[in-house]
Amino acid sequence: MKILVATPLTQGTRDNDYNYCVPGELLWVQEPCDRDLRDPDGGCGCGRGFAGAASHRATTTAQVVEVDFSYDELVLAIQTSLADSGWPQNWAAEVVHDNLMIASMFPAGTVIERRLDGFSARAA
Ligand SMILES: [Zn+2]
Repeated sequence: MKILVATPLTQGTRDNDYNYCVPGELLWVQEPCDRDLRDPDGGCGCGRGFAGAASHRATTTAQVVEVDFSYDELVLAIQTSLADSGWPQNWAAEVVHDNLMIASMFPAGTVIERRLDGFSARAA
């Protein structure tokens, strides 16, 4: 299946890019704060970010990759991550669903960016 992972590829394409994630770590999409809901290119940055499940940091660039994890392994990885960072573990199925749904929209290898609920491919 295809999933979203952190990548440094295409960082700097936009002048408000950032990347504090570990390359290849599993990502999830968090709800933006009120400030970014008004302007995802603004000062906070969460509205254009993907959260790293391992590092608990964030990046503006995600890559769609083909992996041979099972669905259950993904859910377990996210449950562990949520528990580590104090989020409810019962979010895991929804978090995994979002990750897989976004990844399914693009061919493997595509680097994508986010603006709130919108995800689009970057020219590589
Ligand atoms: Zn924010």
